[in-house]
Formats: sequence, C-alpha cells, structure tokens
Amino acid sequence: MNLPRRGCLQVYTGNGKGKTTASLGLALRSVGHGHKVFVIQFMKGSDNYGELEAARKYLPGVSIEQYGLETFVSKENPSREDKDLAQKGIARAREIVTAGEHDLVILDELNVALDYSLVSLDQVMGIISARPPHVELVLTGRGAHEGVIEAADLVTEVTLVKHPFYKGLEAREGIEY
Ligand code: ATP
Ligand code: MG
Repeated sequence: MNLPRRGCLQVYTGNGKGKTTASLGLALRSVGHGHKVFVIQFMKGSDNYGELEAARKYLPGVSIEQYGLETFVSKENPSREDKDLAQKGIARAREIVTAGEHDLVILDELNVALDYSLVSLDQVMGIISARPPHVELVLTGRGAHEGVIEAADLVTEVTLVKHPFYKGLEAREGIEY
C-alpha cells in the first residue's frame, strides 16, 4: 500500500504583495517545530533583507542563500551574470532538494527566474519530480508557469488590490525588505 506523500508542492504567485513573506512565515512555523529549512532566493543579491539577518542571528535552523545581483533584471535583456547566478542557484536548489536533509525548501522568485528564461522549465520540473517524499517545496514569484501550477498541490494567487507604492511610498525597511 502506498502511503500518501507528506511533502507538498506549494506555489505563491500573483501580482499582489505577500508571496515571499508568506513563504518566510512558513519557514518560521516550520523551524519552530525543529524542522530544517533552506531558502534559495533567485534574482536577489542584497544583504539588506531583514530575513537574512534574522536567520543569521536568531534562526540557526534556517539557511538562506542568494543567487542574484542587487540590480533589477531586464526581462528582455538579462545580463550574462544574471543568467550565470540563476544557473548556480538552480543547481544548488537541486542539490539541496534531492539531498532531503531539509524538511522545507523555499525557492523564492523561481517563478520569475523561469518567466525571464534564466532557468528552463525542464530544470524546474526536474527538481519538482526529484524531490524526496518528505520534502515540502515552495516556489514563489509572480507569473508562475502553467506546468508548475499543474504539478502543485497548493497554489495561492495574491491579487493586487492596493499597494502604497502607487501613492508614491518607496520600499520601507522591515516591510518591503
Ligand atoms: P513581499 O516580499 O513583501 O512578500 P512579494 O514577494 O509578494 O512581496 P514581489 O513580487 O517579490 O513581492 O515583489 C518584490 C518587491 O516589490 C517586494 O519588496 C514587494 O514588497 C514589493 N511589491 C510587491 N507587490 C508590489 C506591487 N504590486 N507594487 C509595488 N511593489 C510591490
Ligand atoms: Mg517576492
């Protein structure tokens, strides 16, 4: 008899705010139970994110690595370095997921990296299907690929209704980063 697999594939997508922070909330919940968490952030390279410092200082069970530059990636014309870093990130993601040492693996902004063709659909689907049964895998980022949505057990689409950015409020420390 096949036991139901415990680990699910979760996707947080859509154009509203809250996808990355939803996944970090999960990380907090998971580590609170003594589980091990690994976060790989694609297309991000700034060490000014509060979650990096929080994990370093207070959450030894949460590892976070970034595979991106500090600058925005151009969808039409991504740089060589943007692509190289995303490729390093996807290789690392595969290594971490298949090793199965972490209960929760979050691939933050991977949906965007795929949408921008920094990684291929085959690479993403390969990781999804190679994951051990106990690993909960979370992919975040707007514009999730139809194939990823199809493969997922849980998909949440965050809809933009209002965002203070549109009345001129810049990104705020502790809120947006
Ligand atoms: P958060 O990181 O706050 O959970 P997110 O992961 O849903 O947001 P992304 O799509 O990754 O958002 O956007 C990157 C950055 O832009 C974040 O700092 C986020 O807070 C901010 N942001 C999210 N949605 C919007 C929006 N509709 N307009 C402007 N900025 C946004
Ligand atoms: Mg995000």
